[in-house]
Amino acid sequence: MRIMIPFIILSALILTACSPTVPVVPSLPTNVPVEVFNEVEGGLIAEPITDALKRVTKKPFGLKISSNDSPVDTERFSGYHTGVDFETFPEEQESDVSVYAICEGPVVLKRTATGYGGVLIQRCILEGEDITVLYGHLRLSSIPMELNEKLLKGQRIGILGQGYSNETDGERKHLHLGIHKGFSTVLLGYVQEPERLQEWIDPLTLLK
Ligand SMILES: [Zn+2]
Repeated sequence: MRIMIPFIILSALILTACSPTVPVVPSLPTNVPVEVFNEVEGGLIAEPITDALKRVTKKPFGLKISSNDSPVDTERFSGYHTGVDFETFPEEQESDVSVYAICEGPVVLKRTATGYGGVLIQRCILEGEDITVLYGHLRLSSIPMELNEKLLKGQRIGILGQGYSNETDGERKHLHLGIHKGFSTVLLGYVQEPERLQEWIDPLTLLK
């Protein structure tokens, strides 16, 4: 947003300066890339965590990892990452870090699961497409919503689990966000064949 708004204004100024047919108060040109509109409109999805884009420093969508090739120490997973990991900053290790619903739709799963600790799955319809959204490594006791309760886009779900505890199943304090196509409930954080990544959507393509 901070970058794109000046860019749009600058583009409009250049267009105005270069073309006498452009009105003095220009409307957005029709050939602006989709992500510019998303940014102006506040994003197709809401941020799952504040400053989301600054936090993707270790595991983006689709990254292939193994026990001896991983951006995190003592890796116990392997395969292709089906979501995006949003890291926590050093000063957040002992404080509450809120997680927000990225879209509007009901809770379809809320429980502890291996590899995640607390996990919540939500169903949404995004531009006509059925999706399920997985939020992993949450403190379950911080989530007041019940199964089938509808979350609003941008609504606070709860907070991240404490790092290296049962709340994160021993993982560092971070948010794993996965967006799976369709309404089936899939907990996989990694797949072993790269072709299977097509069953997921890279959340950053919807945030940027
Ligand atoms: Zn992850």
